[in-house]
Amino acid sequence: MGSVQIVTTILAAGITAVAVWLAVRAVMKMTAVIRLGQPAPERFTDKGARTKKMLVETAGHTRMLKWGVVGAAHWFVMVGFVVLSLLVLEAYFEVVTPTGGLPIIGHWTIFGLATEVIGVLGLVGILVLMAIRLRNRPTRPGGRSRFTGSTMWQGYFVEWIVLLVLIFGFVIRGFKVATDHFEYPVWATPVSHAVGAVLPDWQDGASVAALIKIIISMTWLIVISLNVTMGVAWHRFLAFPNIFFKREPAKPAGSGLGALRPMMSQGKPLDFEEADPEKDQFGVAQVEQFTWKGLLDFSTCTECGRCQSQCPAWNTGKPLSPKLLVLSLRDHAYAKAPYLLAGGGKDLTGEEKATQAQLAHLDVLALAEADKPLIGTAEEGGVIDPDVLWSCTTCGACVEQCPVDIEHVDHIVDMRRYQVLIESSFPSEAGVMLRNLENKGNPWGAPQNTREDWTKGLDFEVPRVGEVDDFEYLFWVGCAGAFEDRAKKTTRAVATLLNEAGVKFAILGEGETCSGDPARRIGNEFVFQMLAQQNVETLNEAFEGREKAKRKIVATCPHCFNTLGNEYGQLGGEFEVVHHTQLLAHLVSTGKLTPVQPVDGGVTYHDPCYLGRHNRIFAAPREVLGDSIEGEITEMPRNSERSFCCGAGGARMWMEEKIGKRINVDRVEEAMATGAKTVAVGCPFCSTMLNDGVNGKGAGEQVEVIDVASVLLRSVKPEQPRGDKESAPVAG
Ligand code: SF4
Ligand code: SF4
Repeated sequence: MGSVQIVTTILAAGITAVAVWLAVRAVMKMTAVIRLGQPAPERFTDKGARTKKMLVETAGHTRMLKWGVVGAAHWFVMVGFVVLSLLVLEAYFEVVTPTGGLPIIGHWTIFGLATEVIGVLGLVGILVLMAIRLRNRPTRPGGRSRFTGSTMWQGYFVEWIVLLVLIFGFVIRGFKVATDHFEYPVWATPVSHAVGAVLPDWQDGASVAALIKIIISMTWLIVISLNVTMGVAWHRFLAFPNIFFKREPAKPAGSGLGALRPMMSQGKPLDFEEADPEKDQFGVAQVEQFTWKGLLDFSTCTECGRCQSQCPAWNTGKPLSPKLLVLSLRDHAYAKAPYLLAGGGKDLTGEEKATQAQLAHLDVLALAEADKPLIGTAEEGGVIDPDVLWSCTTCGACVEQCPVDIEHVDHIVDMRRYQVLIESSFPSEAGVMLRNLENKGNPWGAPQNTREDWTKGLDFEVPRVGEVDDFEYLFWVGCAGAFEDRAKKTTRAVATLLNEAGVKFAILGEGETCSGDPARRIGNEFVFQMLAQQNVETLNEAFEGREKAKRKIVATCPHCFNTLGNEYGQLGGEFEVVHHTQLLAHLVSTGKLTPVQPVDGGVTYHDPCYLGRHNRIFAAPREVLGDSIEGEITEMPRNSERSFCCGAGGARMWMEEKIGKRINVDRVEEAMATGAKTVAVGCPFCSTMLNDGVNGKGAGEQVEVIDVASVLLRSVKPEQPRGDKESAPVAG
């Protein structure tokens, strides 16, 4: 070993020892913080499905590849990171001797070829990612950036480290070529040979370059170890467990979509008949009341801003960004952690758990952080502003987009639950809706005995459950479908089409109450459970004696469809629920309904969030429209998975939209820009919001917002009177 190698070896060993020590300390700290969360035993089921999903999502980059170029570039960088870690290991042999290499595989040509190819692709990948970050930097003139609010220096730092490590990999090889110590042939390692051709014949070059490579790599490790909230770096490790422990690993995408996570206390679903607010946790009031998986979610956020770029609230000037919400919770959790780890925290009655002695030596910043209310305005020092919390439409765009499977909607609703159930603090205008749900069983407060009024004037009898036994489908009308004038037209259209197709169906009539969706999404789990239990009982009675496959329900409202199909199982109600567009598509494809006159004038389709993103039904409504219209559907730029919310979900339908641009107006402008005369929808709330938007723009005469079922009915029965124009002014 020469004198240069003695120095390079000592320096490499020294910086590595410091970096490893700091990294171990950082991992212990992160583990301790994540363990502060509440239990989540359900995350340990289905280990096989979890492992499979984790491998598919990480190795296949299934979620990242939705953003083609970024996804591909990131894949090469990820593979480069994993495979080229072997070359960092090899550098430890090269600081000892410039001709050193990895034992055994370090002499295989195939290893030389693979690392060469991955090194080049990794270089291209990181340059692309750097260019994308620069092009989207928040400070660039004009436009909104998905990186607004991200810690930009951390992103640049990580990218430069990757770039330099890759470059020095080729420099080491180049010195080996230049000194004639490189074993791989030119055909397998052309770039290394090209670099070697321009480097001097310096015998110690490989050792010095290897030392620089180790210093760069260890500097990265030291910096990230000193910054445990640096998700842009830590996600390389945390993404694996975060994906493994996702809520529903068997789901094709968006584990936090569809059903909401039930309200939990001490790792078990809360039963309101036995719940005690002094012993049980009602939602989340303190950051440590999230589960450990919630805290892992916050730690894993890469700050990529995909969620933010799709969020309807953020895109219309509201203060909510799902990314910034997650970052605020993460930073608060880590800043409060010293206090919690010292034994601090409030019990469920609000009493401090720690003794004076336990808190005596705590950092004042940790104590100050502990005093912050989780939900509070800037003046109150709150972590999350109430306007942020109540801006969410629960549209799921953030969950759909997140490459590391963070479950934003569950976290938002958990915080809402505490605010509603314990603090009674929520936008006051939603109080009327909640009172109506409790007292009248529907959000509008309409009398229950008018639930069947929509059947009046139909030229056939609509059978009630109990009057007929041999119905195939129970037609779940929903509150909008029964009481709201526009939605009633959809209900009548669906009933007419089912009757026309000879489908045996029956309604519950006055036996139906609200599915509970608005109560659950606003955070009032108590009212949700009350309504849901009543409905489950009614439905179980209606389907008595039938196996699950024959307990078929058709619903026109995607919110009811989602709640009945995905959430009633939590309360003992197992049904086969379809959306009316699915059933209609089936009836058309099997020849039971025949569109005869295509609807003209151009049609665009708005995907309702709870039908599309939350339940992945994109094709059926398009099939129905495709059969009913002239020409093709004119898609809006934001469609299918990336559809833009109408603004009504998450009980926002019953809240005023006081901040920023109205979400429905944003969506209507997009729809109108297609030039289509008909905007087809598959949800009564979307219908209301988009109609309001169209009318607000004074375009009610030029553009019609109408349900897919009504489009089909016009095509199947063109002789049907056209008084069913859904954008006509609505009474009541
Ligand atoms: S659910 Fe929709 S509105 Fe709520 S934070 Fe996510 S993207 Fe924004
Ligand atoms: S998409 Fe996921 S990882 Fe990216 S910023 Fe949003 S929460 Fe973080």
